[in-house]
Amino acid sequence: MHEECGVFGIHSGPETKQVTYAGLSDGGPARISSAQAVYLGLFALQHRGQESCGIAVSNAGVLRAERRMGLVSESFDAHTLAGLSGENAIGHVRYSTAGGSCIENCQPIIARYAKGRLAVAHNGNLRNADALRDELAQAGALFQTTADSELIAQLIVRERMNSRSIEEAVLRAMPHFRGAYSLLVLSPRKLVAARDPLGFRPLCIGKLDGRWVFSSETCGLDTAGAEFVRDVEPGEVVLINEAGELHSFRKNCPAAGARKAVCIFEYIYFARPDSVIDGIPVHVSRMKAGELLAAQSPVEADLVIPVPDSGIEAAVGYARAGGIPYGMGFVRNNYVGRTFIKPTQSERRKSIDVKLSPMAQSVAGKRLVMIDDSIVRGSTSANIIRALKNAGAKEVHVRISSPPIIAPCYFGTDIATREELISSRLSVEEIRREIGADSLDFLRIESLPLLLDPNAEAAANACCCDACFSDEYPV
Ligand code: SF4
Repeated sequence: MHEECGVFGIHSGPETKQVTYAGLSDGGPARISSAQAVYLGLFALQHRGQESCGIAVSNAGVLRAERRMGLVSESFDAHTLAGLSGENAIGHVRYSTAGGSCIENCQPIIARYAKGRLAVAHNGNLRNADALRDELAQAGALFQTTADSELIAQLIVRERMNSRSIEEAVLRAMPHFRGAYSLLVLSPRKLVAARDPLGFRPLCIGKLDGRWVFSSETCGLDTAGAEFVRDVEPGEVVLINEAGELHSFRKNCPAAGARKAVCIFEYIYFARPDSVIDGIPVHVSRMKAGELLAAQSPVEADLVIPVPDSGIEAAVGYARAGGIPYGMGFVRNNYVGRTFIKPTQSERRKSIDVKLSPMAQSVAGKRLVMIDDSIVRGSTSANIIRALKNAGAKEVHVRISSPPIIAPCYFGTDIATREELISSRLSVEEIRREIGADSLDFLRIESLPLLLDPNAEAAANACCCDACFSDEYPV
């Protein structure tokens, strides 16, 4: 599975172009520009998209952007960042879940229109993108990209023509969008953040040296040296005005108690474990999943091992609850892109082979419980189980800290097509045989709400999207 995208933004007020950054270890606090702050935030959000990245800045009311294919650290050097001077800035890391992987589709998107310019950075996917594209095309719109994010920019621009402000335009555009969107919109003097009414994708607010910042995840705030303030609420629009003051608009917020659809897979796999989303630490959710799995599906074994990295916390939880020693069974080579970044099955298989190496000294002669976050096509599991057995493992019992994935995602991730999903074709026992495990079990779907409320005995199943496990879509 691919991540979706990540966004980061900072509003440095009317004049300040530099903020104090306390995070440098070698020389104490340093003065950094808004673009440098965004660079640091995007660097921490790199797991949310590795295809392309971009930074847009507003400098005395003039907007410009630099966008590149590739990783943040490879795309922006000191010289490029120095050229991006400006008081306010937004940035984006992208994996293409809608529209092709090309420089035209990189973000932030800059829209030029009668009242000026604005920049848009979007995380999520619109379900009604085709209908919106048709509607805009019929009205004479020209498109420069194939990404649904451009539709968001175009609709905000259209509403801006009849609005008194950019924040009013965003509020008026939101009812046109159906699906997942966490947005940052940069106008020449203002920064607007918005989150869809169901809250699929995370978005939070922080403060850095007195300046407002926004980040897809709290790990972006931490790396940029900002303090967490709060999450953007589902349906909320947050404005940082010319003077650097924060205003909140809740016109599109759902009624109290109404269903939300925060992506449960953010907690299981997508988000970084050190992030806190909507008040819930991701690593705590993952450990809870492991504990629930241990209670649901115990095994007599010698060692619990994770499939690194996203299986680590669940493995710790399983080991602790199951009273089995925890250890490492693999060495992970971090210099290969994420497992699924390769576009074809054969390239994926190659990258799996070189990415995870079994530790023979640790696993030989042992009965293992191997904890992974999910099984998508089954190819990864089959390869690493084979590698463990080749390294001398006596038994490999596989426990998955999510339910079987049976349906695609239309909300900003790249879960495979239904035909490619092994759990949509085969039973648990058939999958076990296919991947060569000695036993296999998945977390029960009824347990998912407990990941969002780890202290609850039971939780209402109305707080999260679990469509890829249930085939019941909230939109
Ligand atoms: S379908 Fe799955 S991955 Fe997509 S938003 Fe829902 S829970 Fe998340």
